[in-house]
Amino acid sequence: MIPPNGANAPQIDPGRCSGCGRCVAACLLRLITLSASGYRKHAVITRPQDCTGCSACTDACPLEAIRQPPFSP
Ligand code: SF4
Ligand code: SF4
Repeated sequence: MIPPNGANAPQIDPGRCSGCGRCVAACLLRLITLSASGYRKHAVITRPQDCTGCSACTDACPLEAIRQPPFSP
């Protein structure tokens, strides 16, 4: 398993995010939650320092609202 490294945490674009929650379910470490913003919800990463950069959340997003940074060992 890749050790946690906050540098590998993905970026979420709240403008693209529909709040569907697929990334929330995909993250085995439970690092992603939905945050309310007015009438909308969007995903946020609560503990980016614990992210392993596994990209399960990125793969689960149907809207390409999550982007993985270049891998940083
Ligand atoms: S890259 Fe992996 S560990 Fe990091 S937030 Fe996404 S699913 Fe969770
Ligand atoms: S899977 Fe994509 S669209 Fe759905 S909540 Fe996560 S970032 Fe937003």
